[in-house]
Amino acid sequence: MPKFRNPQSLRAGGPLGPEAEIRNPDPQHSKKKRVGLFGGTFDPIHYGHLRAAEEARLKLPLDQVIFIPAALPPHKLREPLSDPNHRLEMVERAVAGNVYFSVSEVEITCLEKPSYTVQTVEYFLSRVSVEIFYLMGMDSFREIETWKEYRRLLQLCRVVVVTRPGLPGGSRISCPPKLKPLFSRSLRDLADPSKRIFILPITGSEVSSTQIRGLARAGQSIRYLLPPEVEEYIQEKGLYENPKSKAQNPI
Ligand code: ATP
Repeated sequence: MPKFRNPQSLRAGGPLGPEAEIRNPDPQHSKKKRVGLFGGTFDPIHYGHLRAAEEARLKLPLDQVIFIPAALPPHKLREPLSDPNHRLEMVERAVAGNVYFSVSEVEITCLEKPSYTVQTVEYFLSRVSVEIFYLMGMDSFREIETWKEYRRLLQLCRVVVVTRPGLPGGSRISCPPKLKPLFSRSLRDLADPSKRIFILPITGSEVSSTQIRGLARAGQSIRYLLPPEVEEYIQEKGLYENPKSKAQNPI
């Protein structure tokens, strides 16, 4: 399946836009396609993200997973992020070899900043007739009650929380009491419209972007934590280097 990278086609929902690309090729087949949206800063994207997306795709299952790099995530407003175009390029390179994965630059080029997940999901639903599963790690889910219009978000799509080892407080599965009625530990409940939040145990990886940035800044190896194409890009552009040692190369 082709990627939708072009913001014009995304905005217009035109022939090259998401409508065309996610549309079910079989018109007799009435079942809606299942699309996973995976938002994050991806600074940089790593194997923890990719494996989580792959296991979600296979276990739910999903027809496609769309990675959505955030322009300026509301919860990370104080941290200096790499240029969005660098982060977008790294995600593009990382997913290039997987036909089920694609990248959307909607939060970077189309939506107001900071953009909120609920707006992103609305954006997709207004353009394509699909079932959306919003993927996130346990650390993100722990903050869900701080997300803008999170109840509305849970009405619009199902949230799939992947396990993530190495978090402070352990990998304890904690669902806010108010959301417990919407929560299920079993994917067998996917057909139950009242269940909106699912836990998906995946092959755990403690890797984080913070760890990779720290290693790169210290001049240490980041190999095998992320795809080689992304590692090459980081080196080529001088990303995450100690600012005193070298300036970033242009995009
Ligand atoms: P940082 O270290 O900069 O905070 P990160 O590694 O957490 O970054 P993000 O881009 O912030 O990466 O994460 C996007 C989403 O992917 C979040 O929902 C996060 O919980 C999830 N995620 C990140 N790393 C993992 C991992 N190793 N296993 C499972 N989920 C992960």
